[in-house]
Formats: sequence, C-alpha cells, structure tokens
Amino acid sequence: MEATDRLLSEAETDPKIRRLCSDILGLVLHENHFMFQDTFYIQRQRTAMGSNVAPPYAVAYMAALEGYVFNHPLFRQYSRTWQRFIDDTFCGWDRPLETLLLFDTYINNIWPEVKFTLQHNTKNISFLDTMTFTPKPKASGSRIPFVNTYHPYSRRVEASLRRHWSILSKSYPNVPKFQQPFLSCYRRPPNIKDRLVRADIGSSTRVPRQVFLRTQKRGTFPCLNCLQCNNIQKGDKIFHPHTGRSIPVRGYFTCESTHVIYMIKCPCGLAYIGETTQAVNDRISQHKSNIRCNRDHLPLPHHFRTMGHNVAQLKFKVMEQIEQGRRGQNRVKLLKKREWDIILPSLSSKSWNKLNKAAGDRTG
Ligand SMILES: [Zn+2]
Ligand SMILES: [Zn+2]
Repeated sequence: MEATDRLLSEAETDPKIRRLCSDILGLVLHENHFMFQDTFYIQRQRTAMGSNVAPPYAVAYMAALEGYVFNHPLFRQYSRTWQRFIDDTFCGWDRPLETLLLFDTYINNIWPEVKFTLQHNTKNISFLDTMTFTPKPKASGSRIPFVNTYHPYSRRVEASLRRHWSILSKSYPNVPKFQQPFLSCYRRPPNIKDRLVRADIGSSTRVPRQVFLRTQKRGTFPCLNCLQCNNIQKGDKIFHPHTGRSIPVRGYFTCESTHVIYMIKCPCGLAYIGETTQAVNDRISQHKSNIRCNRDHLPLPHHFRTMGHNVAQLKFKVMEQIEQGRRGQNRVKLLKKREWDIILPSLSSKSWNKLNKAAGDRTG
C-alpha cells in the first residue's frame, strides 16, 4: 500500500483521492473472500487473487522495489537490459555468473515477502511462455503479418486487401516487405464460453431433500416442551390489525425457530412486530418477563399495563424466517432489513399498530 501511495504522490494526486484509494485498496486486500468447495475463505496474506486490482497493485509494488534494484552497484556495472511484465523480469547480464548469483541474493533480501526465482542460460531462456534466443541475424524477406479476429466476412476483407496491395507496392518500391504479399492470419473470436461466467448452481454435495407426502403445513406450531407453547396463535394467515387484509405465512415454524420476524397480538387487536436471532420462545419469555416486571420504558409492557392486559393474553406468531444464504450473507442484517420492510410502510399510514415500535424496543 505504501508503494501505491508513493506512486500516487509522485503523480501529484489530490491527498483526498490518495486517502480514498488507500482505503479502498485496504478493503480489497484485507477482505478478499473466495469460495472453494462450498466453503468461504478469507485471504490473509498477499495480493488479493482474481481481483481486478491485483495486476496494477503488483506493478506498483514491483516499481517500488525497482528503486532498490537500479541503485545497486552490481546492477549498474553488469546489467545490459531490464524488462519487466508485472512481476516477471527479463534481465540481460554481462557475466561473470558469480556476480549474477550475488545480485540474486541481494534482491531476494530487499523485502522478505518478495521472492525472486532466478533462471539463467547463456543461449536461450523462456520468458512469459516465449522462448528467447541470443540474437541471430534475422531471416530477411519475412512477410508482413495481417492479423484479424475471425468473422465470416474476414475472407472478403482479406480479398479486398489483396486486390489493393499493389497500391502499397507501387507507391513504395524501396520497401522490400511491400513487394511481397502479406501474411494473413486469424485470431479466434470470443465464443459463448468466454462470455459466460460459471453459475452458482448450488452445492456439489447432495443434501437430502425433505419429502412431504401431503401439502406442507404452514404457521407456527408448539414444540410441546416450553412455557411459550400456550401463547402461540394458530393459523397459516396473519390479519392486518387495521385493514384486515390477510397475509399468508410462508413456512413451518415452531417456538424454537431462530432468525425470525414475529408478531405479537394483544387482546385489543393491535400488533407488535419484532425480530430475533434467538429461539422465538426465549424472546417471548423475555417480553413476558418485561410485562410482569412493568418495565414501562419499553413499548410492549407500557401498552399492556395502561390497557390492563395480562401476559396470558399475549399471542404470538412467526411471520418469516431468514435462512442462512449460501454466499455468506449477513443474516442479522437481512433480518433487521426485512423487519423494517414490514414496519416502515405502517409508520406513515399508521396501519400496523406497532405499539410505538419506532420509539425503540431494540433488545431483540
Ligand atoms: Zn414451545
Ligand atoms: Zn392491547
């Protein structure tokens, strides 16, 4: 990051933009998530793999390192060329070999996290998948290549070029390459595979699916093992306290369901919407305890006390559950968002009563 900052400061970038770049780069480098065999990982070290920022970042990093390389006396004395593509470097060295090995030790010790692998040869060397040979006199008379991306009409373009090639050869009789026909070659155009990305079609390991022999039951059902079972309101529909509109419950829930949005209905017909990451019966138990202890600063106990309701009259029902997404979404955030999606429209129209929900019962 220092390297990038230095590059930006050399380019006299506005300090605000520099700070922004450095913040964003920090996010990319330190929060790089990737998925491997259905599990999410966070990359702890080195440049974020596969991100668009990786090549420019690597270039900035290497450019900063080059500052040290270029000032080394051995480099100044023996090197003849230094060509770099991102982090691959091609260096011409004018013997002896010992000096090269010495130089290799030096550059490997500049920054411990950067390791150079030295390959050297006196006749040929492979650089970036290309075999490079010590220069030989070039074969003369090579033809000019005409490279284009293949298209069904490419032949026509080529024919047209061939037809008019004589213009060049006649206009420039001194250029030998123009006297020979050009060499035509084609590049493969991107195919549908290049354009498509791999779809996330679910887990590769098969999860046994639950089979229902009849229509799946919907609603909230007692677990028959807790004190809150008696407070469940049965039914697969929720009725809006003011408009009376019925809203279907989507799912099968029990008092032990977690990450749910629930509705508490009181005897006077008003409703309270809440969300919890705990088992819903634990949350209801807390509400009941708050009511019994007359914690009046909370909206629900306040309403129950002023209206003379008691805890036995409290009825609840689970509205929705937020499932854990496959891609590591923040379940708590989604839960809160969904809760407000339900409550917010009512704040203006005063439709869902919400017993002063907005005033803040944020203990869920
Ligand atoms: Zn129960
Ligand atoms: Zn009430």
